Amino acid sequence: MICGGLVHSGFMTNTFQTSLQMKLHLSIKMKVYINDSLSFASQVKPIAEFSTKFSSFSKLTRVLAHCFRFVHNIRSPSNKCPGHLTAAELVVAENLIIQLLQEQEFSVEIHMLRKNKPLPNNSKLLSLNIFLDKSGIIRVGGRLSKHSTLNINQKHPMLLPKDHHLTPSIIKEYHVRYLHAGPQLLLSLLRQKFWFSHGLSIVRQECHKCLTCRRAKS
Ligand SMILES: [Zn+2]
Repeated sequence: MICGGLVHSGFMTNTFQTSLQMKLHLSIKMKVYINDSLSFASQVKPIAEFSTKFSSFSKLTRVLAHCFRFVHNIRSPSNKCPGHLTAAELVVAENLIIQLLQEQEFSVEIHMLRKNKPLPNNSKLLSLNIFLDKSGIIRVGGRLSKHSTLNINQKHPMLLPKDHHLTPSIIKEYHVRYLHAGPQLLLSLLRQKFWFSHGLSIVRQECHKCLTCRRAKS
């Protein structure tokens, strides 16, 4: 109603109106997309083996995002998403994959967090001050929580299981994306979104495996 009032009062240029309408349209479309995706996700989740078929995290994300889009376009033909995958679609898919990984590795902790109960005394995650965010992803607490300029990923990175087969794939993809960054830089870039234990040694191992870096050093 407020937007409508401004439009009719003549304060907006035609360009701005069009831009706002596009944004509103996209946000409604995105809402429908997310609803469709989440209802589909509830059927995907039990198929944990799904993630084992892929060695590449980005490939798995894109395949899942295409699956979500397919389901959304079938369910909401009047709101079809055409063209290339959007950043928002990839984030929805990526978040679901992170949830899947966490459920495979930290099922006990997730169960306790959902019930608002303390973690078991033998849990390896006790010192991390973990919590579940709105979408059910385990995030790590920390000293950066009071910095209002940081986004949620920087303040509270998503917890990655260090032994899951997709974790090295994420590290490798970051290593290549950031021009074969060395272990220290790579770890700090990864920590802006993810947290995993034994960070530096795992990142070092992955850097050491990189053939491009090995060739450049020899
Ligand atoms: Zn490299």
